[in-house]
Amino acid sequence: LKEVKHFIVEKRDVQSMYKVRDKFSHKGNFGHSLVIGGSYGKIGAVTLTSKAALKSGSGLVTALIPECGYDILQISIPEVMVEVDSEKQIELFQYVSQPNVIAVGPGIGTLDKTISGFEKFLKSNKLPLVIDADALNILSINKKLLELIPENSILTPHPKEFERLVGKWKNDHDKLNKLKKFVTKYKIVVVLKGANTVIAFNDELYFNTTGNPALATAGSGDVLTGIIVGLVAQNYLPVEAAIFGTYLHGKTASLAVSKTGIETFTASTILEYLGEAYLSLF
Ligand code: AMP
Ligand code: MG
Repeated sequence: LKEVKHFIVEKRDVQSMYKVRDKFSHKGNFGHSLVIGGSYGKIGAVTLTSKAALKSGSGLVTALIPECGYDILQISIPEVMVEVDSEKQIELFQYVSQPNVIAVGPGIGTLDKTISGFEKFLKSNKLPLVIDADALNILSINKKLLELIPENSILTPHPKEFERLVGKWKNDHDKLNKLKKFVTKYKIVVVLKGANTVIAFNDELYFNTTGNPALATAGSGDVLTGIIVGLVAQNYLPVEAAIFGTYLHGKTASLAVSKTGIETFTASTILEYLGEAYLSLF
């Protein structure tokens, strides 16, 4: 690929990004993540994302979820604050908390009222976004919405979601070309997930090497979204949050499999090993 800089992400790269906490710091120094998502039957997705935001170090986390998920989320994660939208899905996208970054999409579904609510939300929102899952699918349904995404937002598609956004590619070369064009057009960061997740920003591609097929499990991507939004909340630059978050997410699987095996490793196991992944940097 001409005019594209390629990098393999190494341990020393993420080490150099890591922000050491000041002795006198308080939770207000580590940002406030808002996670918008969930629908009846998919409250687990937004629960995993919220927990991941908290565990990647976000000072505060609020979840905006459908009313039917209220007890589930509060009981699962006492540290997370909850605001509610409509009974079974997100329609209004209204919140009173004061986040500095928003993750949107896990478990959100693609009902008509959710789609029209998301359109209105994008028109008034000014905060940086981490966009995942069905929020990406809504963007594919109405591609004009891509113009409304704030600069420096992060999109985290798996290959199918990315294909819906940019169309089918002929080969890997074509895929990376489409990726490069897409991020420069909208001035965003894309985390194209897979066995070697690629992070694209400007004219740069970063290839992640941590992780293994233990991560090929339900909710794995929802956890990645939470880790990344939590890092943006803590003032990591969007491209750094994407690279660092992907590295840590993969590292949990690299560290865990000798103990858990591949099959019993679940999205919740990623969260259990996130601390070890951070510690492995030093
Ligand atoms: P999702 O499909 O949204 O749940 O995201 C799956 C997550 O697991 C992404 O972060 C992928 O990069 C990761 N993943 C899936 N399969 C593999 C694999 N074979 N090796 C490494 N990471 C993987
Ligand atoms: Mg996903």
